[in-house]
Amino acid sequence: MQQVELRLDKGIVVREGERTLHLDPTRERTPSVISHAHADHASANGLMTPPTRDVLQVRTGASSTTLASLGSTTDHGGFEVTLHNAGHVLGSAMVQLGGLLYTGDLNPEGALTVPPAQPIDCSTLLIEATFGHPRHRFPPKQEVIRDMQLWAQAVTETRSLVLGGYTFGKSQELIALLNAVDVPVMVTPDIAAVAAVYRAHDIPLRYEVLEGPAAIPSSPHAAILPREGLSSKGGAGAKGGLARELGARYRAAGAAFGYSSGWCATWNLARSWGLEAQFPLSDHADFDALMQFIGGCDPDQVYTVYGEDRALADAVQTQLGITAGALRDLK
Ligand SMILES: [Zn+2]
Repeated sequence: MQQVELRLDKGIVVREGERTLHLDPTRERTPSVISHAHADHASANGLMTPPTRDVLQVRTGASSTTLASLGSTTDHGGFEVTLHNAGHVLGSAMVQLGGLLYTGDLNPEGALTVPPAQPIDCSTLLIEATFGHPRHRFPPKQEVIRDMQLWAQAVTETRSLVLGGYTFGKSQELIALLNAVDVPVMVTPDIAAVAAVYRAHDIPLRYEVLEGPAAIPSSPHAAILPREGLSSKGGAGAKGGLARELGARYRAAGAAFGYSSGWCATWNLARSWGLEAQFPLSDHADFDALMQFIGGCDPDQVYTVYGEDRALADAVQTQLGITAGALRDLK
């Protein structure tokens, strides 16, 4: 690959000579590569993995026909593109273009439903910096998972519990975590639709679907609701109507409410949201994991993007001695 130019412009723009490629554009751009099916990375059509296509199809109805499997190399818009597992959610990919590696959202610890991202040797690393500030440090993932499982087992001896999470990624991880200790799981139809994609890609998840309040079983179980269902205000709003309605029913029935997110390591959401428990379970890397990953890629130059981009660039420069800067500061 010759000299490439990078810049931020409604996503990431890679230019090499006359050719341009868009990475995770926020608007329809051609040619483009979509790292994974979270909304902030996937409003456009583009090259993607088959599971990313399947999740997008279920969530938005959009469908790409430009597919590449993890580990394969494809010519796309004149660029040689290799996709590598990013460890973040089903189908999530890091994008390698010659000596450049763009991570997208990544997790070098992986998850129950997706294997860990492995560092790739590269000369220029463009890394996502969501939790890239030294204040973001998570406990070991296995400990967090064990804590959640013990909590779920203890609660469901006498009553039901509600866990909230993003519809795609966290919710399926919660199903796997509860399946491992045989706690019965109920999920909303939108979470079930995405979980069905996981099953179609050979990730065995067991759950029943909560079509409405009448479907709530009387025996203790775990319900996984979109985040709107955790609000103690309840009521059926326009957004998350079913989740809010279910949340209000569970609250009235005395269920235990819990939440899991990387932000739980930094903020006390339990008090402000009226929860009994919160767990720092994340599908992102924390600061230490990002630094270790960067060291493993052994790049000459690091660009950080999104989230705590400047804090991570500073740490890379001072602690790893690698030239680094936030992509948005690139002139
Ligand atoms: Zn994501």
